[in-house]
Amino acid sequence: MPTAEEVRSRIPTAEDADRLTNLIIDLQARGLRINTPFERRPGGAGPSDSGMIWIEGTPLTVPVDANFVEGTPFTLEAEDVGFGIYRDGQRVASAAPANRPKFYDMETADGTPYWQIALMHLDSLASTVLQTCAYWGNDDQCRFCGIGVSLDAGRTVKVKRPEHLAEVAVAAKNHDGAVDITLTTGSTYGRDRGALYVAKCGHAMKEASGLPVEVQFEPPDDLSVIDRVADLGVDSLGIHVETFDPAVLARIAPPKARTGIERYFETWEYAVERFGEGQVTTYVILGMGEDPDLVVEGCKRAVDIGVYPFIVPLRPVPGSLMADAIPPTREYTDRIARQVAPYLVERGLTADKVQAGCARCQACSPLGALEQSLQLADTPGRKLIPVMDVS
Ligand code: SF4
Repeated sequence: MPTAEEVRSRIPTAEDADRLTNLIIDLQARGLRINTPFERRPGGAGPSDSGMIWIEGTPLTVPVDANFVEGTPFTLEAEDVGFGIYRDGQRVASAAPANRPKFYDMETADGTPYWQIALMHLDSLASTVLQTCAYWGNDDQCRFCGIGVSLDAGRTVKVKRPEHLAEVAVAAKNHDGAVDITLTTGSTYGRDRGALYVAKCGHAMKEASGLPVEVQFEPPDDLSVIDRVADLGVDSLGIHVETFDPAVLARIAPPKARTGIERYFETWEYAVERFGEGQVTTYVILGMGEDPDLVVEGCKRAVDIGVYPFIVPLRPVPGSLMADAIPPTREYTDRIARQVAPYLVERGLTADKVQAGCARCQACSPLGALEQSLQLADTPGRKLIPVMDVS
Protein backbone atom coordinates (compact mmCIF):
# COMPACT_ATOMS: atom_id res chain seq x y z
CA MET A 1 0.00 0.00 0.00
CA PRO A 2 1.49 3.39 -0.96
CA THR A 3 2.21 5.99 1.69
CA ALA A 4 0.66 9.47 1.46
CA GLU A 5 4.06 10.76 0.37
CA GLU A 6 4.29 8.19 -2.43
CA VAL A 7 0.78 9.13 -3.55
CA ARG A 8 1.74 12.80 -3.80
CA SER A 9 4.99 12.09 -5.61
CA ARG A 10 3.23 10.02 -8.28
CA ILE A 11 1.17 12.98 -9.48
CA PRO A 12 3.88 15.35 -10.61
CA THR A 13 1.97 17.76 -12.84
CA ALA A 14 -1.44 19.36 -13.14
CA GLU A 15 -1.88 17.61 -16.51
CA ASP A 16 -1.26 14.20 -14.95
CA ALA A 17 -3.70 15.05 -12.21
CA ASP A 18 -6.31 16.19 -14.79
CA ARG A 19 -5.91 12.94 -16.69
CA LEU A 20 -6.28 10.94 -13.50
CA THR A 21 -9.32 12.95 -12.41
CA ASN A 22 -11.02 12.26 -15.74
CA LEU A 23 -10.28 8.57 -15.43
CA ILE A 24 -11.67 8.48 -11.88
CA ILE A 25 -14.91 10.18 -12.97
CA ASP A 26 -15.22 7.77 -15.91
CA LEU A 27 -14.63 4.70 -13.77
CA GLN A 28 -17.12 5.80 -11.12
CA ALA A 29 -19.74 6.36 -13.85
CA ARG A 30 -19.09 3.26 -15.98
CA GLY A 31 -17.59 0.73 -13.56
CA LEU A 32 -14.73 -1.72 -14.03
CA ARG A 33 -14.80 -5.29 -15.28
CA ILE A 34 -12.43 -7.51 -13.34
CA ASN A 35 -10.36 -10.03 -15.26
CA THR A 36 -8.21 -11.07 -12.31
CA PRO A 37 -8.70 -12.16 -8.66
CA PHE A 38 -9.78 -9.14 -6.67
CA GLU A 39 -10.87 -7.92 -3.20
CA ARG A 40 -14.42 -6.54 -3.30
CA ARG A 41 -17.12 -5.51 -0.89
CA PRO A 42 -20.74 -6.41 -1.71
CA GLY A 43 -23.72 -4.95 0.22
CA GLY A 44 -23.87 -2.76 3.30
CA ALA A 45 -23.64 0.97 3.96
CA GLY A 46 -20.87 3.06 2.39
CA PRO A 47 -19.11 2.04 -0.83
CA SER A 48 -21.21 -1.05 -1.47
CA ASP A 49 -20.75 -3.16 -4.57
CA SER A 50 -17.25 -1.83 -4.74
CA GLY A 51 -13.89 -2.84 -5.92
CA MET A 52 -11.13 -1.10 -4.05
CA ILE A 53 -8.03 -0.17 -5.97
CA TRP A 54 -5.14 2.26 -6.07
CA ILE A 55 -4.88 3.89 -9.48
CA GLU A 56 -1.54 5.58 -10.09
CA GLY A 57 -1.27 5.63 -6.29
CA THR A 58 -4.68 7.27 -5.72
CA PRO A 59 -7.36 5.36 -3.77
CA LEU A 60 -10.60 4.58 -5.60
CA THR A 61 -13.76 2.59 -5.01
CA VAL A 62 -15.43 1.55 -8.23
CA PRO A 63 -18.56 -0.41 -9.19
CA VAL A 64 -17.62 -3.94 -10.24
CA ASP A 65 -20.71 -6.14 -9.82
CA ALA A 66 -23.74 -4.08 -10.87
CA ASN A 67 -25.51 -5.01 -14.12
CA PHE A 68 -24.50 -1.79 -15.86
CA VAL A 69 -20.82 -2.72 -15.48
CA GLU A 70 -21.25 -5.26 -18.31
CA GLY A 71 -21.19 -2.35 -20.76
CA THR A 72 -18.09 -0.63 -19.42
CA PRO A 73 -15.07 -0.20 -21.69
CA PHE A 74 -12.75 -0.47 -18.65
CA THR A 75 -11.10 -3.68 -17.45
CA LEU A 76 -8.59 -4.54 -14.77
CA GLU A 77 -5.90 -6.87 -16.11
CA ALA A 78 -3.01 -8.65 -14.45
CA GLU A 79 0.35 -7.73 -16.00
CA ASP A 80 3.79 -9.34 -15.78
CA VAL A 81 4.45 -7.07 -12.80
CA GLY A 82 1.36 -5.63 -11.14
CA PHE A 83 -1.92 -4.67 -12.78
CA GLY A 84 -3.26 -2.21 -15.32
CA ILE A 85 -6.52 -0.43 -16.12
CA TYR A 86 -7.40 -0.89 -19.79
CA ARG A 87 -9.93 0.99 -21.89
CA ASP A 88 -11.14 -0.95 -24.94
CA GLY A 89 -7.97 -3.01 -24.65
CA GLN A 90 -5.57 -0.07 -24.38
CA ARG A 91 -3.65 0.50 -21.17
CA VAL A 92 -4.60 3.80 -19.50
CA ALA A 93 -3.16 3.53 -15.98
CA SER A 94 -1.33 1.36 -13.51
CA ALA A 95 -3.40 -0.19 -10.73
CA ALA A 96 -2.91 -2.01 -7.47
CA PRO A 97 -5.95 -3.84 -6.10
CA ALA A 98 -6.28 -3.65 -2.33
CA ASN A 99 -4.89 -6.80 -0.77
CA ARG A 100 -6.96 -8.88 1.59
CA PRO A 101 -6.16 -7.33 4.99
CA LYS A 102 -4.19 -9.56 7.31
CA PHE A 103 -6.47 -8.79 10.25
CA TYR A 104 -9.35 -10.51 8.39
CA ASP A 105 -7.80 -13.78 9.54
CA MET A 106 -7.93 -12.77 13.22
CA GLU A 107 -10.76 -13.08 15.73
CA THR A 108 -11.76 -11.91 19.20
CA ALA A 109 -11.35 -14.08 22.29
CA ASP A 110 -15.03 -15.07 21.99
CA GLY A 111 -14.53 -16.19 18.39
CA THR A 112 -15.96 -13.26 16.42
CA PRO A 113 -13.97 -12.78 13.20
CA TYR A 114 -12.45 -9.30 13.00
CA TRP A 115 -13.86 -8.84 9.47
CA GLN A 116 -17.38 -9.04 10.89
CA ILE A 117 -16.56 -6.10 13.18
CA ALA A 118 -14.81 -3.67 10.82
CA LEU A 119 -13.54 -3.61 7.24
CA MET A 120 -10.63 -1.96 5.50
CA HIS A 121 -11.62 0.66 2.93
CA LEU A 122 -8.20 0.94 1.30
CA ASP A 123 -6.31 2.71 4.12
CA SER A 124 -9.32 3.61 6.29
CA LEU A 125 -10.77 1.22 8.86
CA ALA A 126 -14.56 1.43 8.66
CA SER A 127 -17.47 0.04 10.60
CA THR A 128 -21.22 0.45 10.95
CA VAL A 129 -21.40 0.15 14.73
CA LEU A 130 -25.17 -0.29 14.85
CA GLN A 131 -26.16 -2.33 11.82
CA THR A 132 -29.88 -1.71 12.34
CA CYS A 133 -31.77 1.48 11.58
CA ALA A 134 -35.08 2.77 12.91
CA TYR A 135 -36.15 3.43 9.32
CA TRP A 136 -35.11 0.13 7.70
CA GLY A 137 -37.98 -1.96 6.37
CA ASN A 138 -40.66 0.70 6.75
CA ASP A 139 -41.89 3.65 4.68
CA ASP A 140 -39.06 5.81 6.01
CA GLN A 141 -36.21 3.68 4.63
CA CYS A 142 -33.68 5.74 2.69
CA ARG A 143 -33.93 4.47 -0.87
CA PHE A 144 -30.18 4.42 -1.56
CA CYS A 145 -29.18 2.63 1.66
CA GLY A 146 -28.13 -0.99 2.13
CA ILE A 147 -27.55 -1.09 5.88
CA GLY A 148 -29.70 -4.19 6.40
CA VAL A 149 -28.27 -6.13 3.46
CA SER A 150 -25.02 -7.34 4.97
CA LEU A 151 -26.76 -8.08 8.28
CA ASP A 152 -29.33 -10.27 6.51
CA ALA A 153 -26.49 -12.04 4.71
CA GLY A 154 -24.78 -12.84 8.03
CA ARG A 155 -21.65 -10.91 7.06
CA THR A 156 -21.58 -8.62 10.06
CA VAL A 157 -22.40 -8.23 13.74
CA LYS A 158 -25.59 -6.33 14.61
CA VAL A 159 -24.08 -4.26 17.43
CA LYS A 160 -20.31 -3.81 17.53
CA ARG A 161 -18.86 -3.54 21.02
CA PRO A 162 -16.35 -0.77 21.79
CA GLU A 163 -13.79 -3.22 23.21
CA HIS A 164 -13.97 -5.39 20.08
CA LEU A 165 -13.67 -2.37 17.81
CA ALA A 166 -10.65 -1.18 19.80
CA GLU A 167 -8.98 -4.57 19.34
CA VAL A 168 -9.61 -4.49 15.59
CA ALA A 169 -8.31 -0.91 15.31
CA VAL A 170 -4.98 -1.90 16.83
CA ALA A 171 -4.68 -4.89 14.50
CA ALA A 172 -5.66 -2.85 11.42
CA LYS A 173 -3.06 -0.23 12.24
CA ASN A 174 -0.27 -2.66 13.06
CA HIS A 175 -0.85 -5.29 10.36
CA ASP A 176 -2.52 -3.39 7.52
CA GLY A 177 -1.46 0.25 7.77
CA ALA A 178 -4.84 1.80 8.61
CA VAL A 179 -4.40 5.58 8.90
CA ASP A 180 -7.81 6.56 10.24
CA ILE A 181 -11.18 5.26 11.35
CA THR A 182 -14.57 5.91 9.74
CA LEU A 183 -17.58 4.96 11.85
CA THR A 184 -21.21 5.18 10.91
CA THR A 185 -24.41 3.98 12.54
CA GLY A 186 -28.01 3.28 11.72
CA SER A 187 -30.31 5.93 13.16
CA THR A 188 -32.21 5.31 16.38
CA TYR A 189 -35.42 6.81 17.73
CA GLY A 190 -33.35 8.13 20.67
CA ARG A 191 -32.97 11.89 20.91
CA ASP A 192 -29.25 11.60 20.09
CA ARG A 193 -29.96 9.50 16.93
CA GLY A 194 -27.23 7.06 17.96
CA ALA A 195 -24.53 9.75 18.11
CA LEU A 196 -23.36 8.95 21.62
CA TYR A 197 -22.89 5.22 20.98
CA VAL A 198 -20.92 5.71 17.77
CA ALA A 199 -18.81 8.34 19.53
CA LYS A 200 -18.20 5.99 22.47
CA CYS A 201 -16.97 3.37 19.98
CA GLY A 202 -14.75 5.96 18.29
CA HIS A 203 -13.32 6.98 21.64
CA ALA A 204 -12.40 3.38 22.51
CA MET A 205 -10.75 2.82 19.13
CA LYS A 206 -8.76 6.04 19.27
CA GLU A 207 -7.64 5.39 22.82
CA ALA A 208 -6.36 1.94 21.85
CA SER A 209 -4.81 2.70 18.47
CA GLY A 210 -4.08 6.43 18.42
CA LEU A 211 -5.79 6.69 15.01
CA PRO A 212 -7.95 9.76 14.22
CA VAL A 213 -11.69 9.05 14.05
CA GLU A 214 -14.67 10.32 12.12
CA VAL A 215 -18.15 9.46 13.38
CA GLN A 216 -21.31 9.86 11.33
CA PHE A 217 -24.85 10.41 12.64
CA GLU A 218 -28.10 12.30 12.03
CA PRO A 219 -28.75 15.74 13.56
CA PRO A 220 -29.60 15.11 17.22
CA ASP A 221 -32.66 16.81 18.77
CA ASP A 222 -30.45 18.53 21.31
CA LEU A 223 -27.31 20.04 19.81
CA SER A 224 -25.42 19.73 23.10
CA VAL A 225 -25.00 16.05 22.11
CA ILE A 226 -22.33 17.38 19.73
CA ASP A 227 -20.40 18.76 22.70
CA ARG A 228 -20.47 15.34 24.32
CA VAL A 229 -19.21 13.77 21.10
CA ALA A 230 -16.39 16.33 20.98
CA ASP A 231 -15.54 15.62 24.63
CA LEU A 232 -14.97 11.97 23.67
CA GLY A 233 -12.03 13.03 21.50
CA VAL A 234 -13.63 12.42 18.10
CA ASP A 235 -11.75 14.28 15.32
CA SER A 236 -14.27 14.73 12.51
CA LEU A 237 -18.03 14.47 12.02
CA GLY A 238 -20.18 13.29 9.12
CA ILE A 239 -23.72 14.67 9.27
CA HIS A 240 -25.16 13.76 5.90
CA VAL A 241 -28.00 15.63 4.23
CA GLU A 242 -27.47 13.50 1.05
CA THR A 243 -29.00 16.12 -1.32
CA PHE A 244 -29.79 19.83 -1.33
CA ASP A 245 -32.92 19.39 -3.45
CA PRO A 246 -35.83 19.27 -0.96
CA ALA A 247 -38.19 17.49 -3.37
CA VAL A 248 -35.66 14.72 -3.97
CA LEU A 249 -34.87 14.49 -0.27
CA ALA A 250 -38.57 13.97 0.47
CA ARG A 251 -38.67 11.13 -2.04
CA ILE A 252 -35.43 9.31 -1.20
CA ALA A 253 -35.04 9.96 2.56
CA PRO A 254 -38.33 10.97 4.23
CA PRO A 255 -36.95 11.24 7.79
CA LYS A 256 -34.17 13.55 6.61
CA ALA A 257 -36.74 15.66 4.76
CA ARG A 258 -38.73 15.95 8.00
CA THR A 259 -35.55 17.08 9.76
CA GLY A 260 -35.28 19.69 7.02
CA ILE A 261 -32.27 21.08 5.19
CA GLU A 262 -32.23 24.20 7.41
CA ARG A 263 -31.84 22.04 10.50
CA TYR A 264 -28.78 20.43 8.88
CA PHE A 265 -27.27 23.88 8.43
CA GLU A 266 -27.99 24.76 12.08
CA THR A 267 -26.41 21.50 13.21
CA TRP A 268 -23.37 22.00 10.98
CA GLU A 269 -22.82 25.53 12.26
CA TYR A 270 -22.88 24.29 15.82
CA ALA A 271 -20.57 21.39 14.95
CA VAL A 272 -18.04 23.59 13.10
CA GLU A 273 -17.78 25.74 16.25
CA ARG A 274 -16.65 22.67 18.18
CA PHE A 275 -14.71 20.71 15.56
CA GLY A 276 -13.30 23.46 13.35
CA GLU A 277 -13.61 24.29 9.66
CA GLY A 278 -13.26 21.29 7.37
CA GLN A 279 -13.82 18.73 10.13
CA VAL A 280 -17.58 18.56 9.52
CA THR A 281 -18.72 16.92 6.31
CA THR A 282 -21.88 15.95 4.49
CA TYR A 283 -22.40 13.40 1.76
CA VAL A 284 -23.99 14.90 -1.37
CA ILE A 285 -25.18 12.11 -3.67
CA LEU A 286 -25.45 12.95 -7.37
CA GLY A 287 -27.82 11.31 -9.81
CA MET A 288 -31.11 10.96 -7.92
CA GLY A 289 -33.07 13.37 -10.13
CA GLU A 290 -32.02 16.52 -8.30
CA ASP A 291 -31.79 20.07 -9.65
CA PRO A 292 -28.04 20.53 -10.19
CA ASP A 293 -28.25 24.27 -9.49
CA LEU A 294 -29.66 23.57 -6.03
CA VAL A 295 -26.83 21.12 -5.42
CA VAL A 296 -24.10 23.59 -6.34
CA GLU A 297 -25.78 26.39 -4.38
CA GLY A 298 -26.16 24.13 -1.31
CA CYS A 299 -22.56 22.93 -1.53
CA LYS A 300 -21.26 26.51 -1.70
CA ARG A 301 -23.41 27.57 1.24
CA ALA A 302 -22.03 24.60 3.21
CA VAL A 303 -18.46 25.54 2.31
CA ASP A 304 -19.13 29.12 3.42
CA ILE A 305 -19.80 27.90 6.97
CA GLY A 306 -16.81 25.52 6.98
CA VAL A 307 -18.56 22.27 6.00
CA TYR A 308 -16.97 19.95 3.43
CA PRO A 309 -19.57 18.72 0.89
CA PHE A 310 -18.43 15.22 -0.05
CA ILE A 311 -19.81 14.77 -3.55
CA VAL A 312 -20.32 11.18 -4.69
CA PRO A 313 -22.06 9.77 -7.74
CA LEU A 314 -24.94 7.45 -6.81
CA ARG A 315 -23.71 3.89 -6.39
CA PRO A 316 -26.79 1.65 -6.47
CA VAL A 317 -26.62 -0.90 -3.66
CA PRO A 318 -27.87 -4.41 -4.49
CA GLY A 319 -30.77 -5.07 -2.10
CA SER A 320 -31.56 -1.38 -1.62
CA LEU A 321 -34.70 0.33 -2.94
CA MET A 322 -32.54 1.88 -5.67
CA ALA A 323 -30.80 -1.34 -6.67
CA ASP A 324 -31.81 -0.96 -10.33
CA ALA A 325 -30.77 2.68 -10.67
CA ILE A 326 -27.67 3.57 -12.65
CA PRO A 327 -25.03 6.13 -11.69
CA PRO A 328 -25.20 9.59 -13.27
CA THR A 329 -23.26 10.18 -16.46
CA ARG A 330 -19.64 11.21 -16.20
CA GLU A 331 -20.56 14.57 -17.73
CA TYR A 332 -23.09 15.29 -14.98
CA THR A 333 -20.71 14.43 -12.12
CA ASP A 334 -17.92 16.29 -13.86
CA ARG A 335 -19.99 19.48 -14.30
CA ILE A 336 -20.98 19.67 -10.64
CA ALA A 337 -17.65 18.60 -9.18
CA ARG A 338 -15.83 21.22 -11.28
CA GLN A 339 -18.00 23.95 -9.81
CA VAL A 340 -17.54 22.83 -6.21
CA ALA A 341 -13.85 21.88 -6.17
CA PRO A 342 -12.53 25.37 -7.06
CA TYR A 343 -14.77 26.84 -4.38
CA LEU A 344 -13.26 24.47 -1.84
CA VAL A 345 -9.72 25.25 -2.96
CA GLU A 346 -10.28 29.02 -2.91
CA ARG A 347 -11.47 28.79 0.66
CA GLY A 348 -8.71 26.43 1.74
CA LEU A 349 -11.22 23.77 2.75
CA THR A 350 -9.47 20.86 1.08
CA ALA A 351 -9.44 17.13 1.72
CA ASP A 352 -5.82 17.11 2.88
CA LYS A 353 -6.85 19.11 5.95
CA VAL A 354 -9.59 16.69 7.02
CA GLN A 355 -8.40 14.57 9.93
CA ALA A 356 -10.46 11.44 9.40
CA GLY A 357 -13.28 9.79 7.49
CA CYS A 358 -14.65 9.81 3.98
CA ALA A 359 -13.53 13.34 3.09
CA ARG A 360 -10.00 12.39 4.18
CA CYS A 361 -10.10 9.09 2.27
CA GLN A 362 -11.75 10.45 -0.94
CA ALA A 363 -11.90 7.02 -2.59
CA CYS A 364 -15.62 7.37 -3.37
CA SER A 365 -15.46 10.91 -4.79
CA PRO A 366 -13.69 12.74 -7.62
CA LEU A 367 -13.27 15.86 -5.46
CA GLY A 368 -9.90 15.05 -3.90
CA ALA A 369 -8.26 14.43 -7.29
CA LEU A 370 -9.85 17.59 -8.67
CA GLU A 371 -8.56 19.64 -5.76
CA GLN A 372 -5.11 18.24 -6.41
CA SER A 373 -5.35 19.25 -10.08
CA LEU A 374 -6.32 22.76 -9.11
CA GLN A 375 -3.60 23.06 -6.52
CA LEU A 376 -1.04 21.86 -9.04
CA ALA A 377 -2.22 24.10 -11.84
CA ASP A 378 0.44 26.67 -12.53
CA THR A 379 -1.47 28.91 -14.94
CA PRO A 380 -2.18 32.22 -13.18
CA GLY A 381 -5.88 32.95 -12.92
CA ARG A 382 -6.86 29.44 -13.96
CA LYS A 383 -10.12 28.59 -12.24
CA LEU A 384 -11.68 25.63 -14.00
CA ILE A 385 -10.14 22.50 -15.47
CA PRO A 386 -11.07 21.84 -19.11
CA VAL A 387 -13.31 18.83 -19.51
CA MET A 388 -11.67 16.06 -21.52
CA ASP A 389 -14.01 14.35 -23.98
CA VAL A 390 -13.67 10.68 -23.27
CA SER A 391 -17.13 9.57 -24.40
S1 SF4 B 1 -14.68 7.54 1.11
FE1 SF4 B 1 -15.63 6.69 2.98
S2 SF4 B 1 -17.03 5.09 2.29
FE2 SF4 B 1 -15.59 5.58 0.59
S3 SF4 B 1 -13.93 4.09 0.84
FE3 SF4 B 1 -13.31 5.94 1.90
S4 SF4 B 1 -13.96 5.62 4.02
FE4 SF4 B 1 -15.05 4.12 2.79
